[in-house]
Amino acid sequence: MNEKKINLLDLDRKGMRALFAELGEKPFRADQVMQWVYHYGIDDFEQMTNINKNLRTKLSEKCEISAPQISTYQKSSDGTIKFAINVGEGQEVETVYIPEDDRATLCVSSQVGCALECTFCSTAQQGFNRNLTVAEIVGQIWRVSRFLGLKYETGDRPISNVVMMGMGEPLLNMANLVPALDIMLDDFGFGLSKRRVTVSTSGVVPALDKLGDVLDVALAVSIHAPNDELRNELVPINKKYPLKEFLAGISRYIGKSNANRGRVTVEYVMLDHINDSTEQAHELAELMKDTPCKVNLIPFNPYPGSPYGRSSNSRIDRFAKVLMEYGLTVIVRKTRGDDIDAACGQLAGDIRDRTKRLAKKRMQQNQISVTMS
Ligand code: SF4
Repeated sequence: MNEKKINLLDLDRKGMRALFAELGEKPFRADQVMQWVYHYGIDDFEQMTNINKNLRTKLSEKCEISAPQISTYQKSSDGTIKFAINVGEGQEVETVYIPEDDRATLCVSSQVGCALECTFCSTAQQGFNRNLTVAEIVGQIWRVSRFLGLKYETGDRPISNVVMMGMGEPLLNMANLVPALDIMLDDFGFGLSKRRVTVSTSGVVPALDKLGDVLDVALAVSIHAPNDELRNELVPINKKYPLKEFLAGISRYIGKSNANRGRVTVEYVMLDHINDSTEQAHELAELMKDTPCKVNLIPFNPYPGSPYGRSSNSRIDRFAKVLMEYGLTVIVRKTRGDDIDAACGQLAGDIRDRTKRLAKKRMQQNQISVTMS
């Protein structure tokens, strides 16, 4: 029986060096291979010209470099590209490329579906399926970089920023998230600055503490409500880790971090007549008064069947004005890619339908096998 090959995209530098030690090779060989993989987008050992023939053969026998494939993609008129990435067994996640004048950001998924059931979120409708592996997380960046024209000759890298804001709650997949972030930050990996890698969380406080102990990346927090009562409804994990605990966890994290320059990014989705009144703006400003932050107001992007509407521009402006009166930095996020459902909270629309079809097919198959047994 063929032994399963080790996927090198699953290994951070520590893991790569351990593997190369097992192969009887020096650590710098692991670093060289990482450079080929992440700097030049190479997945064929034969093209690694500074690696000797013996090692190339050994690597081809035992290892592979295997990123998930792009199933489909859609390009928006504003340049945003939404990719459906095939992670096997008919399952897909979405990855969104957002080019801007001074940066190019990739919004990366961490799970297939999500268990957290935020009521405004399209991904939540799908339920939780499984965690992505390290290779499936970093593979999104690797695959899209190649698609966008990562240059073997020059090593030009088309993605400057990564935000872990795609499908899933990253902090519920720590075992794979941490090595994946390590590869993003590593000079022999994607070599991204820690200020350009952002993890977004809805408030898994113990995991946030753990993350702060092992890594330093930028932090964005999904607040979305100015008090526990409303947040319990919109972001149900709040019942487990209420705002007071979450804010204390955020302070501990930014206290340990350099990447955040002492402040956190607060994400607040603007839901028409739900969380967007001026009273709620005052309440939010009061809530955040001891937590240095900048606030991103995100106009909600309704998806088919969504229970909420988008706040009007005038309500958003009034809300922003109140926050600014308290001295807060406020950014109203531009809606990108909404002609292709790639905007925040809209991921998973058609993927959900495909997943449902797959589940239905499986159920039918199960019914058949039950009848036959
Ligand atoms: S908003 Fe984020 S954490 Fe909440 S259900 Fe959606 S993907 Fe999960």
